[in-house]
Amino acid sequence: MRSFVFNGQPSRVVFGAGSLQHLEREVQQLGASRALVLCTPEQQPLAEAIAQRLGARAAGVYPKAVMHVPVETANAAIAEAQRVNADCALAVGGGSTTGLGKAIALQSGLPILAIPTTYAGSEMTPIWGMTENGLKKTGRDPRVLPRTVIYDPELTVSLAAGLTITSGMNAIAHAAEGLYAQDSNPVMDLMAEEGIRALASALPKLRANPADIDARGDALYGAWLCGSVLGNVGMALHHKLCHTLGGTLNLPHAEAHTVVLPHAIAFNASAAPEAMNKISRALQGAPAALGLYHLAKDNGAPTALRELGMTAADVDRVAQIAVQSPYWNPRPVVPEALPALRELLQRAWEGAPPAQS
Ligand code: NAD
Repeated sequence: MRSFVFNGQPSRVVFGAGSLQHLEREVQQLGASRALVLCTPEQQPLAEAIAQRLGARAAGVYPKAVMHVPVETANAAIAEAQRVNADCALAVGGGSTTGLGKAIALQSGLPILAIPTTYAGSEMTPIWGMTENGLKKTGRDPRVLPRTVIYDPELTVSLAAGLTITSGMNAIAHAAEGLYAQDSNPVMDLMAEEGIRALASALPKLRANPADIDARGDALYGAWLCGSVLGNVGMALHHKLCHTLGGTLNLPHAEAHTVVLPHAIAFNASAAPEAMNKISRALQGAPAALGLYHLAKDNGAPTALRELGMTAADVDRVAQIAVQSPYWNPRPVVPEALPALRELLQRAWEGAPPAQS
């Protein structure tokens, strides 16, 4: 029998095509009357439309979210929230925008209402991240867990074909690592397997037709489940490597996750056989690591870190960082594992298939 601890996360989810129509009701339910609408510069038109819909309940639009939440960006957004006397951070966009909302909530305790438009899953986690001097710091704080999340698949139809696949793979990474996390539990296992299944079935359909609203719904449902797994149980080697690739080398987040995932899964395969079985079941019987590699590659996603701007010399640097400050991992990331870790990164750098376990 397996012993475990389960923590429920107190967030409200409003899901469905067209669910943006419930926005006013949800802002009101939070008791907010001055929501600061956050977005990236690219998504400003959507944020403006949302602010317009909210009328007097919107305190303004702040369109300056960027990848990996640089500390300067966070401080400027915190100052803006204070300046306009905001009582809610309304984050509409992907993980970068949710991350900016989290920086505000961490400092001020303001509630976050998130409207995710990618599959990154940050809206389901109490994890914040910030980048300072080339290093990404992360932490957990219940104040940064969005209180309300509106998942409207219609808002994801505009997600570019490439980011649709890589963002979906990013979500799958949360679930895959959740299956072998140190603090995993049977409830999260169910969500992880179902989340991977939903995304793995939706991604090829979205590659064929990005406007397939049912597949958009399946992918967002999968992202919700996978994000919940990340929010409830720990991360391991894969996330450590991706945090280094993002924070230190500034590689694009979803793409880096996509490339590294099959290799990290292969590295851990022998230490986590049950997790591999579940991933394989979710991929309709394909071997876990190779199945994930093909899910990405066959749908046009990048498979090599060198395509993302990583140099050959960085392979060693990233392996060293992973060993110097490791996350818990089913296969211990100790100095003796350095050659295997280098090999993992070398294969990921070249775009080779994952090693056979
Ligand atoms: P992103 O938020 O950086 O978005 C990438 C680009 O796509 C942006 O220009 C954005 O405006 C655009 N975009 C997003 N949705 C769109 C849509 N529907 N239509 C058109 N354009 C759209 O990318 P991301 O991958 O969602 O987020 C990555 C960031 O999230 C990283 O910094 C990562 O560390 C963080 N993250 C944090 C957690 C957490 O729990 N804290 C979890 C996952 C990711």
